[in-house]
Amino acid sequence: MKKLKVNKDLCIGCGACVAIDSEHFDFDDEGRSFVKSNEHIESDEAVNAIESCPTSAILYSSNDEDDDSKNENDNDDCSCDNCSCHCDHKH
Ligand code: SF4
Repeated sequence: MKKLKVNKDLCIGCGACVAIDSEHFDFDDEGRSFVKSNEHIESDEAVNAIESCPTSAILYSSNDEDDDSKNENDNDDCSCDNCSCHCDHKH
């Protein structure tokens, strides 16, 4: 499944993504953007936010590549029933 991801090493906290798409982006305590939702991630607003980022810090990634998100979510909310993945979730 594709997810949104913000590369915090590249984010300069300009706020463009938050202004354009507050459904998906917000600021963390350090003033950098983070992904707050992965629903409807191919919406016009999400695409506009990605294209508007001056440092190209926002991208789509697969679960396998998304180590930051794994750490942030650390996983009580997994709802897959017959999961065949090899993630760390306790199913
Ligand atoms: Fe950071 Fe890019 Fe969002 Fe600006 S648009 S806050 S640089 S992720």
